[in-house]
Formats: sequence, structure tokens, C-alpha cells
Amino acid sequence: MKGPNNHEDLHFLLLPFMASGHMLPMSDIAVLLARRGASVTLITTPLNATRLRPTLAPHHPLISLVALPFPPATDSGLPDGCESFDALPSRDHELAFLRATESLLAPTLRHLRARGRAPPSCVIADAFLPWAREIAREFCAPRLVFHGCACFATLCFHNLIAHGALARVGHERERRIFVPGMPHEVEITEEQLLVDVTRLDDFSVEMWEVGEAADGVVVNSFEELEREYLDVYREAAGKDVWMIGPVSLSNNPSNTMDRGGKASTDELRCLDWLDQREPKSVIYVSFGSIGRLSPPQTAELARSLESSGRNFMWVIKGNTNDNGLPEEFKEEPITERRMVVRGWAPQVAILSHGAVGGFVTHCGWNSTLEGVCAGVPMVAWPLFAEQFLNEKLVVDVLRVGVRVGVERPSGWAGEGVGVVGIETIERALEDVMEGGEEGVLRRVRAREIREMARKAVEIGGSSFVNMTRLIEYVSEYRYVKDDDA
Ligand code: UDP
Repeated sequence: MKGPNNHEDLHFLLLPFMASGHMLPMSDIAVLLARRGASVTLITTPLNATRLRPTLAPHHPLISLVALPFPPATDSGLPDGCESFDALPSRDHELAFLRATESLLAPTLRHLRARGRAPPSCVIADAFLPWAREIAREFCAPRLVFHGCACFATLCFHNLIAHGALARVGHERERRIFVPGMPHEVEITEEQLLVDVTRLDDFSVEMWEVGEAADGVVVNSFEELEREYLDVYREAAGKDVWMIGPVSLSNNPSNTMDRGGKASTDELRCLDWLDQREPKSVIYVSFGSIGRLSPPQTAELARSLESSGRNFMWVIKGNTNDNGLPEEFKEEPITERRMVVRGWAPQVAILSHGAVGGFVTHCGWNSTLEGVCAGVPMVAWPLFAEQFLNEKLVVDVLRVGVRVGVERPSGWAGEGVGVVGIETIERALEDVMEGGEEGVLRRVRAREIREMARKAVEIGGSSFVNMTRLIEYVSEYRYVKDDDA
């Protein structure tokens, strides 16, 4: 009988949800597993495979990136060529997209059943893909769930659902709810929850139940950052929880240029531009892969950045030209003081550049963690999803960020909320880039946490050890199964 450390014959099946904020960390997890000598199959669709290939397949022969066709528009009701959540024209297609992913179940099973192919020894599946349960069942493999959130936010949702607090939410959108069972007081408005958790109804219930029944939970975070939530969550979930992040540190810096897509502006130009700026002088602004500001809010932010007198690099999504961006920003996107990137930007490479001194972020979990890894203080500007919870973590718990003061969640195009005014934005920018004594402390803390993050992923660090434990768990699971047979 072989010992539990023979990783080379372990085969991990990774099923990422098709959205940048979920696929990118999952592809980093693939790299981490391959580094430990395990083989990995990552299933996605053709357009997404094209985005992931540059950072995966050529560098890691143990990773096989499998592209299975996504249903055509006629069957799915989605726009043609829409294979990723961030490519949806609006939230109205959300449920259709989630349901359309189920069509990957049959071809995934066919792929895995093919003769001569090693069966998976473990399935790591995104929580948004509850059908992954069938695959784990067929191959008697442990199924680990990946939520893509911080441990803090995962615990909040877990407790809200487990204590029945979500079932009680009505339509009093400004009513404040205390999240039960947290190590300290956490308050959130009904509206901030209603937008995302309860709107998908049956799907949310299925996702929750399947997630609860998983054998373990994989979290892109690290123990030193969220230890108190980890302890409570482990207890509440009643299963293993492995914190193996920040997974964005898994790739070579030279690989991060193509992370998640071809940059729209010549990527080297971003870094060249940063090279010519003073250390810590640039404000980097990005609202992630999905979020957009309304045209009036875009115009107000543009005015604020201009009047701040500081250098800034601003990444803007959306194809329309009437997005509120001032004409001069469109005509002259690159000047001494500004660089406007329209489309995809190499965010991890930008954030880790020494010229970046502050990060205006929508508080998506990946962006938040990437900001933490770069040791830059943040202006928290949450838009929707669990971003309001991440804001609390960044501002109140870690104290490496300041609020811009958004209270209400917006739609994907930034609609449905008021405009944050120029004075408020300027104050937040000033606080994060200067901010007096508190600003100095914020920057010190940000640097300290960055060091903790780096140590966590080094050999012997907490995340490294967690990954070892995860692999051992899978090995042992296999031995128990083999012995039973
Ligand atoms: N990202 C990027 N370039 C962009 C926009 C986003 O590299 O122009 C990456 C970013 O680094 C992060 C992910 O896409 O890893 C976005 O995930 P996050 O959880 O921050 O936000 P979401 O897009 O899911 O709202």
C-alpha cells in the first residue's frame, strides 16, 4: 500500500464558475496543485479556455484545460457567444446563465468516462455549480466547495441562512440586520442582502443545500487574515475548511500580464507608464470585471480624480461611448497624470508595481485580496453582491481602507443609486493617499498584512500547510475507499 504523500497519482477535477472573479482564483488553485505534483483537469468553455490558457497550460504540463461547448443562444436564451457572467448584458440574464451551466454536466461526465482517463480523486467545484455533486457521486470522490468569497463573508451568509435570518427579510430595504453568531457585531441592511441572495430563489436554495453537503470548503484567504472567522466557520459548517490563499501569489510575476485575458491597452504600456511615476504616487481605480458606474457617477469620479491633482490609472469596462467619461479622457487617455484603460487590464501586475499608492476598489474579494497582497491602502466603493461585507472587513477589521460612503447596492450598470459627490470622493482619495497620522498607520498595517500574506504562501507558511493537509485529506479518502472496496 502506498503512503498518503504520493501526489503524482492524485487527479483533481476543477470546475470553476464562468466569471472572471471565480475562474481566475480557480486557475491559480490549479497551478498550486500542479506544483505539488498532482494532475489537474480544469473544465470550462472554449472562450474561457482561450482566456485562461496563457497562464495555465504552457507552464504546467500536469494541468489539462478542457474546453466543452456551451449551449447555443437558441437553447440557452443567452446572447450569442456569451460564455461568461461578466459578458452578460444585464442582470436579467443571471438565472438563465446559471441554469445554462448545467448543460456542462453530461459532456463533463462523458469526458471523464473516456477509456484510459484517470478518474478524479477529488472534485473542487464552485458553489454556483451545484450539478458538480453528480460527478463526485459517480466517481466516489470527495467534493470540496469553493465560494470565491472571504471567510468573513462566507460565515456571515452561513449564519444568516442557518439562523433563518434571511427567510425573515422583507422589503424594508433600509432596516438593519445583525448577523447572528459572529465573533463581533456585524450589521447589514436588508437591501444589501436582498439584491443578491434572495433574488434567485430556487437556485439559491439548491446552491446552499449542495454547498452545505460538501465534504469540505476551500477558501482563497489565509489564516492570519481571518483566523477568528475561520474558527467560528469551521465549527458552524462542521467540516474541514482549508485556507490556501492568496492564490493570486501562485503565479510567476511574468505570468500575471496575461492573467484572465489579453489587456486592451498594450499591457507593457501600463507598466511603462507606471515606471515613469514616483513611488506610491498613483491611485489605481477599478470596479472589477462586472461593475460599472452610472454615467453621472463616472463623470463625477473623473472630475474628482482630475481635481485631486494626483496621478491615476483608471480601468473602465463597458463598450458604450456615452458612459459619462469626459471627452478629453476619451481623446487623450494617456497624459502625464492619467492613464485610462478601456477594457481588460493586468490588475495583479499593476497593483504590485511600486508606483501604486492607493486602490479605489469595488471590494470584489479577489481585488480586495490582491490589494492586500500589494500592501496598498484602499478606498472601499462597494457596488453589489458580498462587497458590502468585504468593505467592513477592509475598513473596520483590517483597518487598511476608508469608505467612500456608499450605502445602497446598485445594478450592474451603476443604476438605482445616488451619485457620490466630488467633495466626498476627494476626501476619501486624500485620506487614502495621505490621511495624517491615521493614514500613516493604515499604510503601515497594509505593509504588515502584505508580509503576512507572502509568508502564508511560502514553504511552511499557513496556506502552504493547509494545501498539504488538503492533499493528504484527498489521499487518505482514497485509501479508505480502496480499503472498503
Ligand atoms: N481583473 C483584471 N483586470 C481587469 C478587471 C479584473 O485582471 O481589468 C481581475 C482582478 O484582478 C480580479 C478579478 O478580475 O482577480 C475580479 O474579481 P473580483 O472578485 O475582484 O471582482 P468581480 O469582477 O468578480 O466583481
